[in-house]
Amino acid sequence: MTEINNQHRRQLLACGIVQGVGFRPFVFNLAESESLKGLVSNTSAGVLIEVQGPLSAIENFCIRLTQEAPPLSRIVSLEQKDISPVFPCPQFVIELSRNTPGTNTIIPADMATCTDCLQDIRTPGNRRFGYPFTNCTNCGPRWTIIERIPYDRAFTSMAAFKMCPLCHQEYNNPRDRRFHAQPNACPQCGPKIWLQYGDDKFCNNEALEKTCHLLAQGKIVAIKGLGGFHLAVSAMNQKAVLRLRRRKHREAKPFAVMTSSIEKAGTITEISDKEKELIESSASPIVLLRKKDSTPQEQLAHSIGSNHRRLGVMLPYTPLHHLLFDQLKSYGIHTLVMTSGNKSDEPICLSNKEALEELNSIADAFLLHDREIVRRADDSVVQIISTEPHFFRRSRGFAPVPVFVKNNGPDILAVGPELKNTICLLKNDRAFLSPHIGNLENLQANNFFRETINTMTEVLECDPQIIACDLHPGYFSSQWAQQQKTAGKTVVPIQHHHAHMVAVMAEHQLESSAIGIIMDGTGYGSDGTIWGGEILVGGIQKVTRIGNFKTVALPGGDAAIKAPWRTAISYLYQCIGKKSVNNILPSSFNELPVDSILEIIDKNINCPQTSSCGRLFDAVAALCGLGLEARYDAQPAIELMALTCNKEVSKAALLTDVKLDHSLVLPAGSLVTGVARLLKAGHEPTELSARFHRTLIEVFTQAALIASAKSGLSKVILAGGVFQNELLLYGLVESLKAVGLHPYRPLQTPANDGSIALGQALIARSIVSNAPESTCGFFNS
Ligand code: ZN
Ligand code: ZN
Ligand code: FE
Repeated sequence: MTEINNQHRRQLLACGIVQGVGFRPFVFNLAESESLKGLVSNTSAGVLIEVQGPLSAIENFCIRLTQEAPPLSRIVSLEQKDISPVFPCPQFVIELSRNTPGTNTIIPADMATCTDCLQDIRTPGNRRFGYPFTNCTNCGPRWTIIERIPYDRAFTSMAAFKMCPLCHQEYNNPRDRRFHAQPNACPQCGPKIWLQYGDDKFCNNEALEKTCHLLAQGKIVAIKGLGGFHLAVSAMNQKAVLRLRRRKHREAKPFAVMTSSIEKAGTITEISDKEKELIESSASPIVLLRKKDSTPQEQLAHSIGSNHRRLGVMLPYTPLHHLLFDQLKSYGIHTLVMTSGNKSDEPICLSNKEALEELNSIADAFLLHDREIVRRADDSVVQIISTEPHFFRRSRGFAPVPVFVKNNGPDILAVGPELKNTICLLKNDRAFLSPHIGNLENLQANNFFRETINTMTEVLECDPQIIACDLHPGYFSSQWAQQQKTAGKTVVPIQHHHAHMVAVMAEHQLESSAIGIIMDGTGYGSDGTIWGGEILVGGIQKVTRIGNFKTVALPGGDAAIKAPWRTAISYLYQCIGKKSVNNILPSSFNELPVDSILEIIDKNINCPQTSSCGRLFDAVAALCGLGLEARYDAQPAIELMALTCNKEVSKAALLTDVKLDHSLVLPAGSLVTGVARLLKAGHEPTELSARFHRTLIEVFTQAALIASAKSGLSKVILAGGVFQNELLLYGLVESLKAVGLHPYRPLQTPANDGSIALGQALIARSIVSNAPESTCGFFNS
């Protein structure tokens, strides 16, 4: 009976991202390698494991479980307890999912093709050789094919394809890497591609060949991908890229590209180790990489975006992408522009029918397939800023994997702001931020917004009674929220910059009070004016505005955002008076109707007041001659930043003396005037860009020190779209550390409005839990 005496049994419950990522087969193989018996099962609470055998083997198993877990899994908690051994226990088994509806279900994001699958499609004789829908438990579509949970083939768009006997065998074999890979498929039984070119139709490999041929001719091909369509064109063909710009009505905004390999990306950009890791990760985002100084036009068409230091680059992430590039090699093409397949500002196209109709005026041909995309997911956009990731858009590959937050309370639906909208479902300690929805300015985007709310609440089985929205009553999302009152929901409006601050606090699981430096474009203030350059002090439930940029008139309101030179005039008017403005303006303003703008300001005709930091950037950029109109979001600020670099900023002189007092009215007009004066004196825009950034860093550091002295706090939250500026973010983080403060920046979610919903959700939960009678967390000082 020694054997029985030697038997121990331990029960483990692993929670986190442990379903749909190959976790159970991993456990199975791990147990076998330690000669342990027992079981593993998916349950609503997480993955349940019971291992039985000698104690030393069990200990080894537990250590290796966390150390060797599959790359896409993330164990957030692991509970363990010893239980009585069970007899007989002859083997280790994977139990059928106990798929009770999951309170803790986490749906994995879509994942780029793994190296094993890549080898399959490139190996002649392999039954998946050349097959564009190859995948396994370590890779392939997830979120974009799931109709509802449990995550089972029957509830995905793969249900339409019946597995052939060979695929079925793989699916049922725990030693196979396609064990329970729900989208498992092969050429015999899976989806197929075809190319629609005018009235001609080409199938399978012929479709690929013809697509490459057309791309080599400079044609624009709409390609159905994972979370929507791309418009593809050779990035090495200047004329073709210009044609795409014209047809898509996208005049200036840079395009992202896809290169055939990391090596090819390395010929046109500089890639650090961190960047390499990110771009090759299973999320496979667009990474903003530093362009090489002199890439010839034949390698990268200048029209992709010449006023930028960085280029958005991604690697092939589906088998179809890889197969395309394999064939494009013979044409000498290694880089494609891959831009969202949409009309500008509308959501990315989803179905074949939609694409054929909507993109008809843009694409010359359509590479289609018959696996339905259930949900949209745009490409994510990330940059590494001083070794840490910085999101511009968090979507495919990341959403809807939750941000794990600390506070617990009722479920909340937060509906986000107007621009760069995402929504957030807050459930227990998980904040599920949706993929990028976009600007809620047209019917299609509005429908996508509603659709996302429906699918997120359905899929996550959660119907919150509390809805958080922006304080701005005119936003589409706010109005939608107010309409839900008729269904008995409680609506909690949240101030925009408070939400920015708390989104970052949520990520870092900060619960106590902090200082917020929130630099942004536009947000509705609690006093009804437009905010966007705010110093806040407080916590999740409530903050106080203790400082802000001196407000300025925005001549013509939104018109001034599109024509930044107007804002420049307004700052000068405020700072040096109407009569002096014309004397100080650079010659680039000569042709502009400056006097009529001065009149508008004088008479206060449609001149809303703003404390926005984004507008301050606009004004300085306009003076520096960077375009008289902003043709896409933040264009002036981005181009102003591109004039200089970290090194120049760190050694630049200040524009003016900065000495903030306790009133914390941050200087804006004097900075603009300083730039105008120095330009007049013959200084170059490159120098002034560096000095402007340096001065802002000084202003914010002084403000943080004063806020810290007033409040006794030392944690400083940096949030808002302006912090997408890498020079400002980097410089300020260093500067705050140097004076002994503790800066926190967004790492998992964007600094811009893409994370507003996350902040809204946490604030609403805190208010409802602690002070149910109040409806807004914001209290003006
Ligand atoms: Zn794979
Ligand atoms: Zn098959
Ligand atoms: Fe914002």
